[in-house]
Amino acid sequence: MTALPIGATIGIIGGGQLGRMLAMAAARLGFHVIILDPASDSPAGQVADARIIADYDNPTALAELAQRCDVITYEFENVPVEGVARLGERSPVRPLPKALEMAQDRLVEKRFLNDLDIATAPFAEIDSQDDVAGAVEAVGGRAILKTRRGGYDGKGQLRIDDADAIVGNTFDQLGGVAAIAEGIIDFECEISVICARSIDGQTACFEPARNVHRAGILATSTVPAGVSDETLKAARSAAVTLADALEYVGVLGLELFVLADGSVLANEFAPRVHNSGHWTEAVCSPDQFEQHIRAITGAPLVAPTRTADCVMENLIGDDVDRVGALLTEPGSVVHLYGKSEARAGRKMGHVTRIG
Ligand code: AMP
Repeated sequence: MTALPIGATIGIIGGGQLGRMLAMAAARLGFHVIILDPASDSPAGQVADARIIADYDNPTALAELAQRCDVITYEFENVPVEGVARLGERSPVRPLPKALEMAQDRLVEKRFLNDLDIATAPFAEIDSQDDVAGAVEAVGGRAILKTRRGGYDGKGQLRIDDADAIVGNTFDQLGGVAAIAEGIIDFECEISVICARSIDGQTACFEPARNVHRAGILATSTVPAGVSDETLKAARSAAVTLADALEYVGVLGLELFVLADGSVLANEFAPRVHNSGHWTEAVCSPDQFEQHIRAITGAPLVAPTRTADCVMENLIGDDVDRVGALLTEPGSVVHLYGKSEARAGRKMGHVTRIG
C-alpha cells in the first residue's frame, strides 16, 4: 500500500475534542480534514478545512464524505456501524467497522477479549429483571450492572455491593435495556495502553499510564504508571493481541485493572484515540494523534519517544475557570477544546504537567 500523498483529505466522523486533536495533527502532516458532525460549532469543526453538518447516519452526508475524502476515520465508538460499513465500499474506512461492532456492546466485547485469552472481570448476561439476582450471584455477589450499549463515563451503571441491595426494579433503573453484571474488582490501580497498528500490521505502543477516575470520569493519567515491568509487558501484549485480532489500523486504547499480584484484567477498549493518551501530546514524538494519522494514511509508524515524566489532568465543568492560573505555571501544557458552555461533567480541556 502506498501512503496517501501530502494534500490528501481525511474525513473524520465525530466533531468532539478527539476529532479536534486528530485534525490538528493531520494539518501538521499536510493533510486536509473534513468533519462530519450534527453540531454547527463542534470542537473539531472549528479547526478543520471543512465540515458537513449532519447526523452520523445521514446517508447523503456519508456519501458526500466518502466522495470528498481519500480515507475516513472516526473519533467515537457509537457511530452507527451500518452506515460506516457502507462507506467502506467507496472509500477506505480505518479502523475497520469490526472494531466498532466489538466495542459497542459490552457483552460481545468481553467475550471477544476472553476468546483472545485476555482476562476480564467475571460477567453475566441480564435480559430482564428475572436475571438480575442470578447474574449478581454468578459474578461473586458484588457487581456493577452496566448496560450493554451506549454507556460511557460511568453512565448506564449501577453498583450492587451485596445481594440485599437489589431492591425495586433494577432492570428498569438501568433503562430497561440488555445489560451485564460485572464482578467488582478490588484493583490496586487502573492503567491503559495506547497502541497503534499500521496497514501492514506493524504495532507501536505508548508506555501505559496510571489512571484515576472520579465519578466514573477520567480525572488524571500519570506516566510512568509505577507498576512492575511484568505488568507493563502484560498490558502491552494484551493491546497488541487485540489490535492484531481486529486487523486494526489506527490507534486504540485498552483500559486494564491491575491486581495485587501484578496481573491485569481488561476492562474495555476504545477503537479510537483515548483520553488517557492526551499526555502524549506534551511529551511524546509522535503523539497518539499523529500516530493515528500516520497509521490511517499509510505513513510509517515509529516507536514513540518519551522525553519526560508527566501528569495529565482533565478540566471538567468549571475546572476550566482555573485556566488563568494554569497558564502561569511553567512546564504546563494547556489544551482547551473550544466548548462555549461548561456544564457539570463536561470535558472542557486538559492540562499536562511535565516533570
Ligand atoms: P467503565 O465505564 O466500564 O470504564 O467504568 C468506569 C470506571 O468504573 C472504571 O474505570 C473503574 O474505575 C470503575 N469500574 C468499572 N468496572 C469495574 C469493576 N468491574 N470493578 C471495579 N471497578 C469498576
